[in-house]
Amino acid sequence: MGQAIQVLDVVKVYPLGNGEVVAIDHLDLDIAQGEFVAIVGRSGSGKTTLLNLLAGIDRPTSGKLRVGDTDLASLSESGLAAWRGDSVGLVFQFFQLLPTLTVAENVMLPMDFAGKIPVGRRRSRAEHLLDRVGIAEQADKLPATLSGGQQQRAAIARALANDPPFLLADEPTGNLDTTTADAVLKLFAELNAEGRTIVVVTHERDIRSIVSREVTLVDGRIITDQTTGATR
Ligand code: ADP
Ligand code: MG
Repeated sequence: MGQAIQVLDVVKVYPLGNGEVVAIDHLDLDIAQGEFVAIVGRSGSGKTTLLNLLAGIDRPTSGKLRVGDTDLASLSESGLAAWRGDSVGLVFQFFQLLPTLTVAENVMLPMDFAGKIPVGRRRSRAEHLLDRVGIAEQADKLPATLSGGQQQRAAIARALANDPPFLLADEPTGNLDTTTADAVLKLFAELNAEGRTIVVVTHERDIRSIVSREVTLVDGRIITDQTTGATR
């Protein structure tokens, strides 16, 4: 399998008051195509920073990030946004659905942005994706009328809008009850089985039964990197 994600000696420093915070500290990480990786670690260990670097939302202070065939440093801000819209599906803890749009419209938004899916196919693709994540019947409702688990499924459908090879999720189950969280993680496992490379930041204790690899961060460094029990 090819190297899907390559993080080479990456440092991310944030200014703070008169000093600075080293959020990511000379981190190296290779992720192969098709892996399902959990990033774990305490609050403040650098998980969100790492995910934002992988998504090109943020730039490293130094070091190199390659995602798919793309050296992220080679892209301008608008180039990064276009690349992200095409290649990366993002899922967040608080769903971040637009409240005034219906669920289907939320899923269509990244299609409108990327322009890859023909206009006439966007609605039916949104319906297909909502069916895929198990909430087809919620398509024309507003997000606020859905349960937390349903909103996260809608956000996952939105992340799949342009059929990205990478899914990055930052504590996607952090706002869900245990049963709902399990169901959402199973959905990620299914999407991984279809060939997507997935990196998920999580606090779920039983994540090891689902992912293929668990990377633990402390102070912006990897302290353990373990292959887990899950097989595919
Ligand atoms: P985690 O997601 O594991 O909780 P973060 O990546 O959010 O960790 O944060 C890592 C470190 O960087 C923490 O010390 C945090 O306070 C700091 N940090 C994160 N974002 C910023 C920012 N925008 N400005 C300053 N410091 C930040
Ligand atoms: Mg975080």
